Amino acid sequence: MIIELETETADRTREVGRALASVLEPRDTVVLTGDLGAGKTTLVQGIGQGLGVEDHVASPTFTLVHEYSGRLDIAHVDVYRLERVQDVLDLALDELGGPERVLLIEWGDAIADLLPEDRLRVELTTESADAETRRIVVTPQGPSWALRWERLEQILDPFRRPARRPLDEAAP
Ligand code: ADP
Ligand code: MG
Repeated sequence: MIIELETETADRTREVGRALASVLEPRDTVVLTGDLGAGKTTLVQGIGQGLGVEDHVASPTFTLVHEYSGRLDIAHVDVYRLERVQDVLDLALDELGGPERVLLIEWGDAIADLLPEDRLRVELTTESADAETRRIVVTPQGPSWALRWERLEQILDPFRRPARRPLDEAAP
């Protein structure tokens, strides 16, 4: 059960974030995964917009966690570097940003075992053919996302990745 999306610009990825924001609930965890520059922080910017955050959302590169308040409170974490994983452990993940916050965690796969079982995984991939295009795969994990899945599919429908042409058709 996955939803496969495609965005052609950073703004379009922010739009996906805004759409995702509309189904978020207190205590949700969203794991963002993908290479450096794939667009994880860009997507978080969109989620922030969707939750009515007025502050500028930037990568938590120098501080482990950025906290924002909007319709829901957000804790935005990036555990890219190994020492960050330890920092997150020291902070006690549960306490990050308070009990009701939505946790948006870049490179969260690295600490998957420590995260709530109920979480949404969003993977961004750069397509080699076109430097701007990103493929985004959304995977639900756990019962709370299973319940919201149909709604999520509807909301993300405008961003669906078009079906690829068969290889033989693509030949000149
Ligand atoms: P990450 O957090 O995954 O390292 P960032 O979101 O910080 O990535 O950076 C992504 C970069 O790629 C930004 O400079 C953004 O403007 C650019 N970009 C170009 N096209 C897209 C797209 N379709 N989606 C997201 N970002 C894009
Ligand atoms: Mg980032």
